[in-house]
Amino acid sequence: MGLLVQKFGGTSVADSNKVLAAARRAIRAHHAGDKVVVVVSARGHTTDELIDLAKEISDPPPARELDMLISTGEQVSVALMAMAVQALGVPAISFTGAQIGLVTDSFHTRARIREIATDRILQALDSGQIVIVAGFQGIDANANITTLGRGGSDTTAVALAAVLDADACEIYTDVDGVYTTDPRVVPEARKLDRISYDEMLELASLGAGVMHSRSIEFAKKYGVPIHVRSSFSDANGTWIVGEADASHAGSVTGCALVKDEARITVLGVPDRPGVVHELFRRIAQAKIVVDMIVQNVALHGTTEVSFTVAADDLTQALEVADTAARAIGAAGIDHDPQVSKVSIVGQGMRVHTGVAFSLFKALGAAGINIDMITTSEIKISVLVARISGVQALRIAHKTFSLEQASGDSAHAQFKPRHLASPARGQVTTDEHAAASPGMEDLVITDVELDTTQARITVLNLPNTPGQSAHVFERISSAGVFVDMIVQNTGRGDNTNLSFTVPRTQTTQAAEAVLQAVPHGQVVVDDDLAKLSVTGVGMRTHTGVATRMFGALADRNINIAMISTSEVRLNVITNQDAGHSGIACLRQAFHLPEPGQAQSK
Ligand code: ASP
Ligand code: MG
Repeated sequence: MGLLVQKFGGTSVADSNKVLAAARRAIRAHHAGDKVVVVVSARGHTTDELIDLAKEISDPPPARELDMLISTGEQVSVALMAMAVQALGVPAISFTGAQIGLVTDSFHTRARIREIATDRILQALDSGQIVIVAGFQGIDANANITTLGRGGSDTTAVALAAVLDADACEIYTDVDGVYTTDPRVVPEARKLDRISYDEMLELASLGAGVMHSRSIEFAKKYGVPIHVRSSFSDANGTWIVGEADASHAGSVTGCALVKDEARITVLGVPDRPGVVHELFRRIAQAKIVVDMIVQNVALHGTTEVSFTVAADDLTQALEVADTAARAIGAAGIDHDPQVSKVSIVGQGMRVHTGVAFSLFKALGAAGINIDMITTSEIKISVLVARISGVQALRIAHKTFSLEQASGDSAHAQFKPRHLASPARGQVTTDEHAAASPGMEDLVITDVELDTTQARITVLNLPNTPGQSAHVFERISSAGVFVDMIVQNTGRGDNTNLSFTVPRTQTTQAAEAVLQAVPHGQVVVDDDLAKLSVTGVGMRTHTGVATRMFGALADRNINIAMISTSEVRLNVITNQDAGHSGIACLRQAFHLPEPGQAQSK
């Protein structure tokens, strides 16, 4: 007999008929022999309406009272759902967050879960009841009602699945799964059968409409298989699972567009330890969320550091960047208010070469200029002019034939393997008190040092469409495996493109580049170390970059290159700094020394 958590979103319980339909679904699983825990959101637009009502009285409303108010939406839903299940002849009981002992911190309207008691739920399940739990809410240590942030019922559901050691967490919603890209923008987009947690997190902007990012981070941390599916049909949806269970069919799984970004570049940044930290410390202090960060190799003692922010944050970010630029002795700042980020994501990129080349070539052929490039292990992001954003997304989708099924769909009856995460089923503050006081805290899973690579830099590459494609075409046909790619925005007509390759392939790589740009200047550097920080929760916890840069600055370690993604931060330093760099990062993120325990 299994245990299933089913979560029904607001649209799935909007009226009495829908509540009854959801109840029937839970009952079916119950009759099939599973223990069933149902998590529900507030009906329809209830939460929005309650917030509006509060604002008519007091704007902004006091946070504690707002939580008291908006938590009632879910309380209505659980009561109705329990009545529905009982009316259909199966025993059921509803609980609020407080009643099951879902304890959070005290940050009203955006609280994070600390622990969940399971005894009351297990008792009810053992006595044959379907258990209905209110999503989105908890209580803090002083029994104040808290809520988890908009969309938080997903997080409640995944958290319950984790502590109850459920076989799966089913998310019933008004879409039938996760798509290769937003079908409203690219009509050929296809529903995915499976996607890994990391792919889903890297495609955050894609996933955002479907599930709360925090719930995916949570699922990854506790190894909870998620099945996103439609409340209105029995069709299989999309499984969000561990890497081993996800699809390996293609090199690219999905692509996404973040349309409204703005780029800021700090020019003439002195090439010495601590300056990047100073810059991002100030930005973090202003509570501005930074998306991409790109820094390429320094020339003649200075470098450019670029980053993107939401277009809405541009004015404020410019102010902070301007002050910071003065403070660190940079030459000035430059910006572009009209950019979009296009990303392709796929765990197959770890083993397929030439993925970058295919993307760059297709964009080049369409005359779309690439302003910036940054990569992680499973993601390549490019920044393009906003007017080309949608076209670039369509091109990416087509280039990797994402509209075609990968072959995994044959396994319609896919069952995820039970992941043996050490954290599952035993989550209480006591066990984790020292290292991690709350279930949802940021977890840095790994810091890595790689000293096997060399860097190739192509200087003064013309800043026109198709140039990077040209370079990577040669690289890829020479069979060179490219890891990190960084291209910062060009100053004037030229740009510098850097990438890392295995040191054993340095000569081949350099020759290939020279074939591509016969009159180009190519610089090879093998005095380097790559330091990476990988984490769960990096997307929703700001300040990881600041902490990483700060730790390196404290050790007087100079950062030569930076690239970022949603789950990973990579920096290049010189080789000498590698070991002390990794040691200080371990310290900064409280990870054990390698001999102590192999965390992963
Ligand atoms: N009712 C809450 C909201 O609208 C939580 C949720 O729906 O997940 O944000
Ligand atoms: Mg929701």
